[in-house]
Amino acid sequence: MEHVLSLKLLENYKKNAYCSAVVGIESLYEGQEHALLTPVDGGSLGKLHWTSVETTETLIKRSHEAFLQWRNVPAPIRGQLVRRVGEVARKHKAELAEIITLEAGKTIQEAQGEVQEWIDVCEFAVGLSRQLYGLTIASERPEHRMMEQWHPLGVVGVITAFNFPMAVWAWNAMLALVCGNTLVWKPSEKAPLCALGCHAILQEALKDFPEFPQGLSTVVMGGSDIGEALAKHSLIPLVSATGSVNMGKQVAQKVGARLGRSLLELSGNNALILTPSADIELAIRGILFSAVGTSGQRCTTLRRLIVHESIADTVIERLKGAMQSVRVGDPRKEETHLGPLVDEAAVHAYERAIEQAKKEGGELVVSGGRSETASASGFYVKPVLFKMPAQSAVVMEETFAPILYVMSYSNLEDAIEMQNAVKQGLSSAIFTNDVREAERFLSVSGSDCGIANVNIGTSGAEIGGAFGGEKETGGGRESGSDAWKNYMRRATNTINYGAQIPLAQGIKFDF
Ligand code: NAD
Repeated sequence: MEHVLSLKLLENYKKNAYCSAVVGIESLYEGQEHALLTPVDGGSLGKLHWTSVETTETLIKRSHEAFLQWRNVPAPIRGQLVRRVGEVARKHKAELAEIITLEAGKTIQEAQGEVQEWIDVCEFAVGLSRQLYGLTIASERPEHRMMEQWHPLGVVGVITAFNFPMAVWAWNAMLALVCGNTLVWKPSEKAPLCALGCHAILQEALKDFPEFPQGLSTVVMGGSDIGEALAKHSLIPLVSATGSVNMGKQVAQKVGARLGRSLLELSGNNALILTPSADIELAIRGILFSAVGTSGQRCTTLRRLIVHESIADTVIERLKGAMQSVRVGDPRKEETHLGPLVDEAAVHAYERAIEQAKKEGGELVVSGGRSETASASGFYVKPVLFKMPAQSAVVMEETFAPILYVMSYSNLEDAIEMQNAVKQGLSSAIFTNDVREAERFLSVSGSDCGIANVNIGTSGAEIGGAFGGEKETGGGRESGSDAWKNYMRRATNTINYGAQIPLAQGIKFDF
């Protein structure tokens, strides 16, 4: 089926003129042509030309030129642009969500939530635009003053994954812009229209600021070769990359080879510990959304449930019922819980993991499989629940699909050890009503993840906190708290207002 995108701001795209309007140069069209399909029913979303490596180079230079002007605009004035972006995004929330649903297959509820996340981060960034402050530090020398300043960094290269095709850009871009940087964004090759939607909003907002430089944020389309071009480029001091561990390792090596900075947001393999004191009904609700929301395609998706042996049978029985009641189907319908996986390769990965888990002794409690009720041409699967004898090889991997593995434990130390035994370190949770268990889990000897929750599932973070994880998840932090510091450079300034020039550490150098 041919889908017509309703976002008015994208209408020009259909006339094949949109990209040049975004970046202001025609040569963006010289790259290879790509057909775009929706996972909703396999129908066409049109065609798009990828950007060539040569054009990417030109656009990076152009972004650097824009940076040289933008860095001089006072931060609160930069914030006015981001405020306007938030207003325009709010106005077009429904249309933007529709693009996410059509292109990434995310349910309309979750797609609207993703756009809301963008609007929320705009509000956060506007506040931040008046708070980019450093410390004043006591100097050991008389009549001296020390202070820190935070200055804009330069062009930020952003590489994003398909599963949060707008929000991850927004986390980076809204902060980077108020921090005085410009951006070159390479979206996932599976979600280029979402990127055009974002840029349509930005262009609309920029109409109110004709004095601002052209090229504040640029979209370059394509695959890993375009991502690599960003990673290697000396005019890009920071590359923020979201995706698989494999991608992160390659990007980090290329950026590291030129001693640039990487901000990595990579795979998760998240666990939830369910203790005997927990409110089980509350936990079931938290578990279900974390395990099957976004069709199991969130970096924070719950994949490993570690349940105390005394309640394991009850929990598995309750989960079985809950998972069987999940409505799989068209993500455009409000009542759908679980839309399609992103493509056929994702369905194969799901099927492979199921076979592997069986070989490793897994007992199928909810058997899953392709959904017969949903569209035959889409990539619809049902949720799967496995009871595993141990945390075997397949459980240690991130399979981007709605498969939940359940293991049991007898004491909390073992459960925490099991939770920390994987290579990834993104999100984790405990459900307990015992304050000692909760505090143990949050303590230095507890969860080793970037996110550790109590009585909340592993997914669905708020923008106010710093988001990211440890170990192979890459160590990056984005969005709230002081994540803005990633997008700036710190200058330590010492000022002598006296008539002497004493040296630090009491060193004498008189002549
Ligand atoms: P992916 O790694 O296949 O692709 C992500 C992006 O990297 C794409 O834009 C892709 O073109 C680009 N890319 C791939 N190889 C590259 C290379 N060698 N050099 C430069 N760029 C390259 O990931 P995906 O399938 O789109 O997304 C799913 C993965 O992303 C999962 O592992 C998920 O956990 C992770 N993810 C992490 C977070 C987080 O915040 N930690 C958020 C969303 C997704």
